[in-house]
Amino acid sequence: MANGRGRPVEAGIHGFWYPYRNIFSLVQRLGLNPFTPWTRSAQYSPAGLEVESPIFQDLPRLPMPLGTFLYPEFKRLPLGDRLSALPLLAALLDFDNSDPAWRRYDSITARELFKDFGVSARLYKDSFEPMLLVGLFAPGEQCSAAAALGMLYYFILAHQPDFDVVWCRGTVGEMIFRPWCDRLTKLGVQVLTQQRVSDLVVSADHNAKPNVTGVVCGDRQFEADAVIFAVGVSGIQKIVMGSPSLSAYPEFRNLMNLGAVDVLATRLWCDRKVAIPRPSNACFGFDATTGWTFFDLNALHDEHQAAPGTVVEADFYHANQLLPLSDQQTVAMVKDHLSTCVPGFRQAEVIDSSVIRLPRAVTHFAPGSYQYLLPAQTPLANLFMSGDWIVNRHGSWSQEKAYVTGLEAANLVIQRCGQGTPAPIIPVEADEPHIQLGRSLNRLVRSWGEAFLPQFWLP
Ligand SMILES: Cc1cc2nc3c(=O)[nH]c(=O)nc-3n(C[C@H](O)[C@H](O)[C@H](O)COP(=O)(O)OP(=O)(O)OC[C@H]3O[C@@H](n4cnc5c(N)ncnc54)[C@H](O)[C@@H]3O)c2cc1C
Repeated sequence: MANGRGRPVEAGIHGFWYPYRNIFSLVQRLGLNPFTPWTRSAQYSPAGLEVESPIFQDLPRLPMPLGTFLYPEFKRLPLGDRLSALPLLAALLDFDNSDPAWRRYDSITARELFKDFGVSARLYKDSFEPMLLVGLFAPGEQCSAAAALGMLYYFILAHQPDFDVVWCRGTVGEMIFRPWCDRLTKLGVQVLTQQRVSDLVVSADHNAKPNVTGVVCGDRQFEADAVIFAVGVSGIQKIVMGSPSLSAYPEFRNLMNLGAVDVLATRLWCDRKVAIPRPSNACFGFDATTGWTFFDLNALHDEHQAAPGTVVEADFYHANQLLPLSDQQTVAMVKDHLSTCVPGFRQAEVIDSSVIRLPRAVTHFAPGSYQYLLPAQTPLANLFMSGDWIVNRHGSWSQEKAYVTGLEAANLVIQRCGQGTPAPIIPVEADEPHIQLGRSLNRLVRSWGEAFLPQFWLP
């Protein structure tokens, strides 16, 4: 890892989409002001600018998905291709985020789903697959169709403003977590950093569900009345591998069937200002199975606003083949890609850079993975799970889901201990009326089918 100008660099910069209601509410309650205004974004391919998105909430609200299809300024994608997405509405109605819906759609790939519903090759390649690469961090043939439907509905399709996004004006750690931890510390919470959990102490009374009584961190041990894990897939796999107490349970051993995706996060400091039309940008078509984003940090981060040259962050998802590149090769590739999107980068000199390789950094929602994901309640009575890969029915994704599952797990602890007030959890905005109607009709037809047709074929 090379750290430009000796500064620590948080891996990746993080957007907060319009439906992140619980995080926005937390930030408001903490009295923080960490976000930029709503920003417009652009999408690039090796052919140049492909599409620019408006701020959807500023435009007259149309029933979903009309605003999403009509308002963005597509530079190349013909209307006919965009209209080929309409049959996909049937799958969106059928996928209601319930357990049976996940089981129906999880075993097929997103690519098969789009093919079966008649999406044109161009719309898939130039629009849906890029969204999967930056939303689920993997190409369509490696994504569960259930995850694709859930993610696309939450971030883009459910309500017109859902795709609007704000960015943290610095690192999330500094601007949100640090003041949040300070507040918790004042309330009497002890926050211990640099303590890696290596095992749990479990008491197995044959007459009751097993209980966690302690948390082991290397050679230290802490007593515990309840435990909530908030680690990613790779983190929990490492814990299970070294934990005789957890590996006794098939639910935890089965976590070894889950995958995680490699990410490459880079930052370039340029000797001059390059005019980047939009602060946040997604790119596709440069590598077959890699998507990437770039951000104008002069526009987004307070720290870089007054910098004499451009500071740009470029993050690559499903970056497996890029991780072996040297820092020098990586920086040359990033500059070359940036110059394809924004030609002004060609003349700029890179005077400093940071390259962070993140193997197995984000959850891989692979086809068939749903059966191995855990719910908040584990087989151990007082051990609970949270994170963006935990099964719940809220409907959110990414950071908002990590936070919501944390609240859900905390509420389970409160319920179990019989003291404390459960945290309120804001649900996602209700489906629009025509979607509610479509879903009711779909459920009716499905229940007739289940009642009168033999359940002989694969679902
Ligand atoms: C480059 C990149 C860009 C992203 N962009 C966005 C975005 O724009 N918007 C968005 O909403 N989401 C984004 N995400 C996804 C987002 O970061 C995740 O959804 C979110 O961080 C998940 O939170 P989590 O708490 O489940 O896990 P994590 O954030 O992964 O936190 C898990 C923590 O557990 C710690 N840990 C692991 N093992 C142990 C152990 N044994 N003991 C103690 N601690 C341990 C880790 O160090 C880590 O701090 C991005 C991710 C990446 C990598």
